[in-house]
Amino acid sequence: MDNVNEGGCLCGAIRYVFSGAPLWTGYCHCVSCRRNTGAVVACFVGLRPQQLEWTSGQCREFESSADVWRGFCGDCGTPISYRARRWPNEIHLYVGTLDHPEQHPPRFHVFYNDKVHWFDSADDLPRHAKTSLE
Ligand SMILES: [Zn+2]
Ligand SMILES: [Zn+2]
Repeated sequence: MDNVNEGGCLCGAIRYVFSGAPLWTGYCHCVSCRRNTGAVVACFVGLRPQQLEWTSGQCREFESSADVWRGFCGDCGTPISYRARRWPNEIHLYVGTLDHPEQHPPRFHVFYNDKVHWFDSADDLPRHAKTSLE
């Protein structure tokens, strides 16, 4: 199989690879991620910034709320990354931008209180009302 830690945007202008295992993988049900993705639930891998290498292109960033920056492809609009002053030593990538998302299953849900009521997933993963820290 190809490197399971590679990914990129829909048009291919942006490509990345990360080394090692993600710090975590998880679903986010918050309203901002829903709007950003256009999907009812988002799913992320969390990385140390030094694990990640952009091998092609560069994300444009949009400050979606105070001290939160969401990266996307300026050519095709694919949402790719999330970083926040709150987690200065992390960058989060949408699992759906990976070439092999099946290799990175989520381990928890956050912002479960914001979940769209008709959506559910059949799993026994921890469900946090807000973040895993609150
Ligand atoms: Zn693109
Ligand atoms: Zn979110």
